[in-house]
Amino acid sequence: MIKESEKITISCYGCGHTITLRKRKVSFAQYYICGRKSFNCKEKIPRPKLSDNLINNMVLVEEMNAAGCFYGYRYEWADKETRKSIGRAKELLNAGIDLLNNKKPII
Ligand SMILES: [Zn+2]
Repeated sequence: MIKESEKITISCYGCGHTITLRKRKVSFAQYYICGRKSFNCKEKIPRPKLSDNLINNMVLVEEMNAAGCFYGYRYEWADKETRKSIGRAKELLNAGIDLLNNKKPII
């Protein structure tokens, strides 16, 4: 059993960089990523091994300072409102791409 005052060590999933801190300072995440952008650690987070249809119903939740200065990431199932929001964002993206390809004036 870990006491509240005990420290634990968290490793960056991308580069292995570690940080040691009190357990109560750590939020749950599937993957912890350091903030060193030159290592591109976030890009190393694996995608869930599901069919494309199921992956479209998942979102990657990011939490700043989940463990000290580390970011925390976890996959969650998108709720109904989030799926609607994703649908609207995709419509906007597709409309923008259409405008760029057809070079229509934006009015
Ligand atoms: Zn890292």
